[in-house]
Amino acid sequence: MSHLATEAPRAPTVWLVGAGPGDPELLTVKALRAIRRATVLLVDDLVGDAVLRYARRSTRVVRVGKRGGCQSTPQAFIQQLMLREAQAGERVVRLKGGDPFVFGRGGEEAEFLRAQGVQVEVVNGITSGLAAATALQVPLTHRKHAHGVILVTGHPRSDDTGLHWPTLAAAAAQGLTLVIYMSVATAAEVQSGLLHSLPASTPVAVVQHASLPQQRHAIGTLGGLVSMIEQHGLGSPAIILVGDVLRCLQQVADIEPAMDPCIEHSARRA
Ligand code: SAH
Repeated sequence: MSHLATEAPRAPTVWLVGAGPGDPELLTVKALRAIRRATVLLVDDLVGDAVLRYARRSTRVVRVGKRGGCQSTPQAFIQQLMLREAQAGERVVRLKGGDPFVFGRGGEEAEFLRAQGVQVEVVNGITSGLAAATALQVPLTHRKHAHGVILVTGHPRSDDTGLHWPTLAAAAAQGLTLVIYMSVATAAEVQSGLLHSLPASTPVAVVQHASLPQQRHAIGTLGGLVSMIEQHGLGSPAIILVGDVLRCLQQVADIEPAMDPCIEHSARRA
């Protein structure tokens, strides 16, 4: 008898689980447990094999990502599949890159499932924007440079008129670090929009595949963002970081002689 068969019957449940930015060592213990207990895993394309290795051999793994086996699985299909499997008594884990509730439609999936009477459990993951900053050892809220962070998508819905780069630039100028997801393809828009309120010398960084062995990054200034991305051949998945906290990086100090890295500031204050 399988150990699952000994458990009390439970209401149909789906676990929305964050797989983190890619490095399996960045999975939470809770995520790991959910993956191990899953009988069906519905997996986004940003979730790599290194994470899936933790699933049991008997677990049915369905890749529903846009770049994976299935070409752009429609969202409605994914939702129906989760519903059907949960109602059939499967232990369904929807494994999403980063954190399930930071972009990536986790909120929509939870709403749909709850409306259908399915219980939803959510397990945090380390979101890629934080992992990207940590990959460069950038303290996102270093108090010398920033008093907050804005997580924003560079790829708003086509019907979304809410994203206004000059406003975000003004916020960044006031000491808010910008962490921009899904933005490499729209980097030209990001650059020109932000230049409305930020000087061309504002430090920027682009981190691709944060936390993974193939991680790459480039550091420069806002005025050269697009050419930097082209020059380094950076592509999705990547995060663009914008703001004065990047002055903590020695490379930025090298680009812009007027900038002092944080280490020097703190040494001087000490
Ligand atoms: N829920 C995810 C975000 C999904 S949106 C999270 O919390 O991280 C997909 C976007 O996430 C990508 O376009 C990219 O901007 C970013 N992303 C995901 N994994 C990444 C990684 N390892 N390195 C850099 N960016 C990543």
